Amino acid sequence: MLFSEVFGHNKIKDVLIRGANSGRVGHAYIFEGPQGVGRLSMAKAFAMRLMCENPNDDDSCGICKTCSQCMSQNNPDLRIVNNQLYDPSKKSTDILVDTVRNMKREIYIKPYAAERKVYIVPNADTMNLYAQNSLLKVLEEPPEYCTIILIAENSNLFLPTILSRAPILKFFPLAENEVREYLAKSSIECDADEIDIAAKMCQGSIGKAKELLEDSETGDLRNALLDSIFALVGERRKGIYELMLLLKQNKDEFEFLVNVMQSVFRDLIYVKNIENHPEITNGDKWIKLQKFADSIGRECPIRLNEILFKYSDYFSKNISYGLIAQCLSLELWEAINDRGYRSKI
Ligand SMILES: [Zn+2]
Repeated sequence: MLFSEVFGHNKIKDVLIRGANSGRVGHAYIFEGPQGVGRLSMAKAFAMRLMCENPNDDDSCGICKTCSQCMSQNNPDLRIVNNQLYDPSKKSTDILVDTVRNMKREIYIKPYAAERKVYIVPNADTMNLYAQNSLLKVLEEPPEYCTIILIAENSNLFLPTILSRAPILKFFPLAENEVREYLAKSSIECDADEIDIAAKMCQGSIGKAKELLEDSETGDLRNALLDSIFALVGERRKGIYELMLLLKQNKDEFEFLVNVMQSVFRDLIYVKNIENHPEITNGDKWIKLQKFADSIGRECPIRLNEILFKYSDYFSKNISYGLIAQCLSLELWEAINDRGYRSKI
């Protein structure tokens, strides 16, 4: 991948290009940031630049043998490390100590063709202490030709001894207009309204935006959740159980569900309080949103956001998910229907 194909993060790009041009390249880096913002693409672009036979000031050449091999993911000196790379029977998505040991063995074999060997380790912050300690040994005495890029969401999960040997490059979420620009230029088949919703809901992650547009299951889940929220209006408690069930059945998607709920409650604040509302995220549900807004009080959306915030906090504290789903659904229903009592957990 070329640097010119990596979207955004221009400062990080500059740092890496300058380092490569001057020959001051580290043996290890941590690319830290949320999923889907472009950490892996940047790592691939950097790796290709380090191995390119004929680079220019700004990028790899893109046409030499090494570049061609990198682009076809067929370069023996560029390794994207996961457990299955060394043992296809491994199921774990956490980087295991065996994998690190295999990687270490390989690292000490000189590059096949390029001057450099690059190891990219996605999900590196899933390594446990044994795996990290094993990796530490190679970071302490790295072969001259090797660069290891650890891709992580949270660098706090690394041992201080690893952090002291690998500078962190922080990837921040992309701005909404950057995501919109990317999607508009991409080959994904969608219209302007769909791009707008995805850009607003993806929290600065191109990966998430693409998932929203390409993965019909994600779109279906959003629609089902919105219908469940709208169905909470009314005295009948059926809506509570429907929402509870949906939340329970989609525990792995809880962050996404919270994100969708947040967007609806924010939309409701606009609809209730501001005459023009160009900032609305769920514009495709405009009629239902207006109807819903008419059924609730002015302060209600703020209260709904508070409830949501409280339960997403509980989620991060490992409180029983079933209980969270149950109480969250009930409290939202109470707030929407203006009940005086509150359930507590
Ligand atoms: Zn090249």
